[in-house]
Amino acid sequence: LCFSKTPQDPGKNFPHTKQVGTYLVGKMINKGSFAKVMEGLHISTGEKVAIKVIDKKKAKEDSYVLKNMKREPRIHQMIKHPNIVQLYETLETENSYYMVMELCLGGDLMDRICDKKKLEEREVREYTRQIMSAVDHLHRHGIVHRDLKIENFLLDENNNIKIVDFGLSNTMKFEGLSQELLNTQCGSPAYAAPELLAHKKYGPKVDVWSIGVSIFAMLTGTLPFIVEPFNIKQLHQKMVNGEISPIPTDMSSGAEHFVHYLLEPDPAKRPTVKDAMKDKWLNEVFIRKPLNFTTYKNRLCPDELNPVVLNYMTETMELRLSEVINVLINNKPSSIMASYCLLLKKLVKY
Ligand code: ADP
Ligand code: MG
Repeated sequence: LCFSKTPQDPGKNFPHTKQVGTYLVGKMINKGSFAKVMEGLHISTGEKVAIKVIDKKKAKEDSYVLKNMKREPRIHQMIKHPNIVQLYETLETENSYYMVMELCLGGDLMDRICDKKKLEEREVREYTRQIMSAVDHLHRHGIVHRDLKIENFLLDENNNIKIVDFGLSNTMKFEGLSQELLNTQCGSPAYAAPELLAHKKYGPKVDVWSIGVSIFAMLTGTLPFIVEPFNIKQLHQKMVNGEISPIPTDMSSGAEHFVHYLLEPDPAKRPTVKDAMKDKWLNEVFIRKPLNFTTYKNRLCPDELNPVVLNYMTETMELRLSEVINVLINNKPSSIMASYCLLLKKLVKY
């Protein structure tokens, strides 16, 4: 009953170039460093999705692309958090790989900063709290993102942050308290921590540094370390010396202190995400709900699944309940996951 609003011919109002699996592929949203991201339409629900398309030929020629492409869905399945984009399904055709995911209609933070030159402290605090919550969640599950930057922070229709792009993410193996540090060069140099640029061993605190650079970018519309013309050695030297670009005089001392706190060149002295979440500026207007108390479960539980959607999937779609539950509690990208998430989205909307 609730789902009867699905249009008879959803493709009619959705300009598209082709169909892949149960999706229509529409216009391009953006191009990243490895992939194109297109708008898509899930035919049976009429709900829109984002589809990341990776060219197989490119992936074959470039082992780096191939590695990233295989890693990304694997990391996605390990993680579930409200501020991390949900992967619905992966598909493969003769020429391409596709990752179908939650569509973020608010664009990325880069567009938002470009529109407004810089963002209000209040807004930056709100986004930063969500970013910190998501990255703390990643770190607690042994994942370092390694490519946090303005372009990878998207906004949904409710102005909530969704982190994308796990192509460079990696898992760290915990051995007691010490963790295996990772040893590859990652991400964009402007956001990369000094220990990364220096090819030293590094760990989850590289994400803390990148968050610091991103907050600076949100607050000022520029980057904290700029070298013209670009020179990686000089860039590294600036970071180590703490030569941060001048901070506008209208920035509050709390915000300035927080940025400096995160942009600590020595990873041993730099705070963890957990430490940083206790910062005063970050918690200023949220006295009742300090950030460090909000933790999220990493999986859906059978008893929190929506009964109306489950009923529709077993009755109308004729799926086995045990199979549906198994997919959902294991966060497994699949057509079942896509149907559940999109039906739920539809249900909440109407
Ligand atoms: P790459 O690995 O090539 O950098 P990304 O996953 O970062 O690709 O995506 C590239 C761009 O596409 C992003 O910066 C963003 O603008 C857009 N994009 C990515 N995922 C989504 C999504 N789920 N919803 C809306 N736009 C997206
Ligand atoms: Mg990207």
